[in-house]
Amino acid sequence: MYTFKNKRYLPPAALDNLIVQNNLYDYTSTLGYSVENRPILVSSFGSGKRKVLLWSQMHGNESTTTRALIKLFSELTLKKSSLLDNLSIKVIYQLNPDGSNSYSRLNANDIDLNRDAIRRSQPESKLLISLFNVFKPHFCINLHDQRSIYAAGNTNLPALISFLAPSFDKSKSINEVRMNAMAMIGNIYKKIKPEKNWSIGRYNDDFNINCFGDFFMSQNTPTILIEAGHDPNDFGRNLVVDEIYKSLLIFFTLFAKGNQTNSNINTYLSIPKNHDHLRDIEITKIRCLEGFRNKIFIQFYEILKGNEIYFFPKIEKKTPKTLYGSRIIDFSKYTNKPIDLNQNNQKIIEKLKLFLNFELFLRRIS
Ligand SMILES: [Zn+2]
Repeated sequence: MYTFKNKRYLPPAALDNLIVQNNLYDYTSTLGYSVENRPILVSSFGSGKRKVLLWSQMHGNESTTTRALIKLFSELTLKKSSLLDNLSIKVIYQLNPDGSNSYSRLNANDIDLNRDAIRRSQPESKLLISLFNVFKPHFCINLHDQRSIYAAGNTNLPALISFLAPSFDKSKSINEVRMNAMAMIGNIYKKIKPEKNWSIGRYNDDFNINCFGDFFMSQNTPTILIEAGHDPNDFGRNLVVDEIYKSLLIFFTLFAKGNQTNSNINTYLSIPKNHDHLRDIEITKIRCLEGFRNKIFIQFYEILKGNEIYFFPKIEKKTPKTLYGSRIIDFSKYTNKPIDLNQNNQKIIEKLKLFLNFELFLRRIS
């Protein structure tokens, strides 16, 4: 397992520090409490007519968009941005503080809050619904992190950001509300400038009314899902914080001006769909005991130990689908010694480690 200094572990105490350091404390109050009685904070910005509700870290281990929110609102308040004259914004930085503390997707009752929009069995889900009902936003933004397995389209380009205008029914119909969300995403997408090593994806729109995005769409409130993705050179996800920040700023700039009058949805539909076929490392030309073997794939899994995130490499030998590596390593350049690939994960990794510096891959930029 490997670790390096990064900011992906964002427990409530770290969020509190960010709020204070970025002078957001005066805008912030307690919305309610989590299962383990941790405060769930909400900030209110602006006094305009057009109302936006955003929430992040409903999955506790997805902190990238939270960091983007802090950066954005710290800047908008510091500059006294005119956007805040036209908008009223409510932001829940961390809907799932217990999961954020334990670096878990789930809440303290092991419930996925994004499957609890209808049952509302959890205090966190109830708080989001009640804020939605009282505030009556005109637009919602649902913020997440996606795994590094997602490519933009049938390519090996990682989806650094993925967008979705969620469905509100099983047949994935497009009504005026969904069209509004699609047009907004299309307009944001046109202004993002992808680099040569990443692209933008469109998230799966299968309908699930238990997801908050789908539910809010069914309540006639345009909602967009934004997923922060992964640059293979940036396991700390610092680069994508900036891209999410820019996307949100574009959103606010457009939304402050009014509805998406140009409700052309073709740009949205032209965004390549997410494909889940990427793996962190593809190692080719490993000589195995039986002779040459084509390749193996390695995916890093994140584990919280103490106060740090560790990355645990796991080998995927065979899968029914074709996989692509975000980074490809020609192992024959390192050694021609055979490696016994029939051993368990840990033993193979130990062998590969004699030749490859996994730590260096993780640290590349972050
Ligand atoms: Zn998520």
